[in-house]
Amino acid sequence: MAIRKIREMGDKILTMSCKEVKEMTPRLKELVEDMLETMYDAYGVGLAAPQVGVLKRIVVVDVGEEPIVLINPRIVDKSGEQTGDEGCLSIPGKVGVVTRPQYVKVAALNKHMEPIEVEGRDLLARAICHELDHLDGVLYVKHVEGTLRNVESKEEEEEA
Ligand code: ZN
Repeated sequence: MAIRKIREMGDKILTMSCKEVKEMTPRLKELVEDMLETMYDAYGVGLAAPQVGVLKRIVVVDVGEEPIVLINPRIVDKSGEQTGDEGCLSIPGKVGVVTRPQYVKVAALNKHMEPIEVEGRDLLARAICHELDHLDGVLYVKHVEGTLRNVESKEEEEEA
């Protein structure tokens, strides 16, 4: 396992659409492990493959419950609304207010390429929406209400 370099806003790869994963390979397995390690190292609650320079539809999320690996994820249900601060490991030191669904249900494959469904509420729903946006080259700044603000200590912020 290795910590990978996180791409930051301004890097073109963060604006590009990712390709579906057709099969799990040793290389992709290593990518998933590295993404988890990179996310934890950066105190993030989520990370998408393009953030480490790989244009594949893979995200990892952990809001403090358990690590979730989502391959080729798509939102199949959502409801409600939540408005709050959001950050991104690719936009360090900044937060902004974003409105997201309060609840989402995602259909995806797990790291064994088995179909799974994951339900998320509150922060988990926010993190899932944020990460799935990355797979289509969308950064949260596109959704920000008002302006981005600086954060004093980024370790204390939840960034995805
Ligand atoms: Zn992000």
